[in-house]
Amino acid sequence: PYQNFYQLVEKNAKKFGRKPAIFEDKLKITHRQLKNYVDSFARYLELIGVRKGDHVSLLMGNSKEFIIAFLAVGKLGAVPVPINTFLKKEEIEYILDHSDSTVLITQEKFHKELTDVFRNTKIQKIIWHGSYPELDQNNLAFEEGLTIQDYEHIKPQGSLDDVAVMIYTSGTTGKPKGVMLTYRNIFSNLINIEKVVPLSHRDRFIVYLPMFHTFTLTATVLLPLYFGSPIVIIKSILPFSNILKQTLLKRVTIFMGVPEVYNALSKAKLPWYFMWFNRLRAFVSGAAPLPESTLKRMREKFPKVPLLEGYGLTEASPVVSINRMEKQKPLSVGPPLPDYQVKIVDDELVELKTGQIGEIIVKGDNVMKGYYKNETATEETVINGWLLTGDMGYVDEDGYIYIVDRKKDLIISKGINIYPREIEEVLMAHPSIEEAAVVGKKDETHGEIPVAFIKLKEDKTLSEKEVRNYLKERLANYKIPKSYYFVEDLPRNATGKVLKRVLKEQVNAGKY
Ligand code: ATP
Repeated sequence: PYQNFYQLVEKNAKKFGRKPAIFEDKLKITHRQLKNYVDSFARYLELIGVRKGDHVSLLMGNSKEFIIAFLAVGKLGAVPVPINTFLKKEEIEYILDHSDSTVLITQEKFHKELTDVFRNTKIQKIIWHGSYPELDQNNLAFEEGLTIQDYEHIKPQGSLDDVAVMIYTSGTTGKPKGVMLTYRNIFSNLINIEKVVPLSHRDRFIVYLPMFHTFTLTATVLLPLYFGSPIVIIKSILPFSNILKQTLLKRVTIFMGVPEVYNALSKAKLPWYFMWFNRLRAFVSGAAPLPESTLKRMREKFPKVPLLEGYGLTEASPVVSINRMEKQKPLSVGPPLPDYQVKIVDDELVELKTGQIGEIIVKGDNVMKGYYKNETATEETVINGWLLTGDMGYVDEDGYIYIVDRKKDLIISKGINIYPREIEEVLMAHPSIEEAAVVGKKDETHGEIPVAFIKLKEDKTLSEKEVRNYLKERLANYKIPKSYYFVEDLPRNATGKVLKRVLKEQVNAGKY
């Protein structure tokens, strides 16, 4: 059994030496080259003082350098801390400082966000990829780290219960918390995915979603490394046509995405040769609820390529459940991975019956070690080995999980639970509505009332009265939103999740 990620790099170099490990634009890196780069870069980090247990932050866009740096940090037994590249100066400084990172590996394009890093955090050295002009003893060049040769003395560190990575949750519901995941946590996830999804080194993965995110990192970077499958790196999600082009050219077989991507893909006009010549075996969706309408359109467009919805969260390394190729249920996120237990409980953690809605809790080797420097939050979240996911859902008679909503997004109106997702699904099924989000607005008599944010499809118009009448035919009265705000766009985080916290704050501050 593997103890750390470097063993995967070594195994691949031995087994698949000259075969491609990474494609990036026109560049190809073999497994042997990848190992050399990782060895060199680890030695470079050692030379500047990085040791086992140190925290090294990574603020980098999708690139081979991200992967090399990530693996090199791990080889020394140090802990990589990938940072969301969409964050602003103060948010980045918060994570750098809170994580006690001493070294930061980044790119020239982030220099504006990093002007006060030496003053405001514990960072001592910054390693710059790209043409950062002001190099000195604290600002170092990434490229130099790729050519060092004297690395033979370095024995790879890292055993199962060491922290493999620290990921700050995106903070859709509050201040980011540093989730500590051990090698045991992540390998448990990889091994369990292997048990239910037939994958091999012959598969090819495409990575266009940001690598700093737990779903992308585990399912599209570490999972391919585990099998020795090539990774096709795409730097930016736009233009979308480039993703499709690379999917075709590089013969991608496994395509992971978020609902927003499938929404776009299912509506896009795809050239006939794409439909004919792609090698796709499976689409996988996670991170946010996949609307039924999107799934339906995807099935019509790609009748032979299953779109499997899965569910997970950073604290669970991240995958908890996934639909199986041989048995898929629409709207379900599938049964738990084989080695994990899932229960649905009430507020007192008493288990509920099949079909009843409650909080989803999970037990298994994938459950995080804890939140960094936040024991209170850890104790509230992991109880007797059970991870409280904060997600509400139910399980059917076959053990398939259905997510109803996030506990924090629940609207409680006169003591009655309203699940925004149910209302959103109905709204999004309307032919003129592109997207919708429903949140709770504070209200003196009801506690909270539902209000709806609506983004219309291009060239469509709709009045509040029309929406209201449409909903009245389909939903109980107490679920009908009391106000409607037509907006151009909904605020989103890096993975495309709607930031309901922001909408809620705005609506309660009287912005609408
Ligand atoms: P924070 O915890 O700070 O709010 P976050 O929720 O974005 O950040 P992640 O770990 O990235 O943190 O996301 C996990 C959450 O994503 C889950 O708890 C769940 O609410 C949601 N999620 C993931 N997959 C699905 C899915 N298939 N359907 C519905 N929701 C999903």
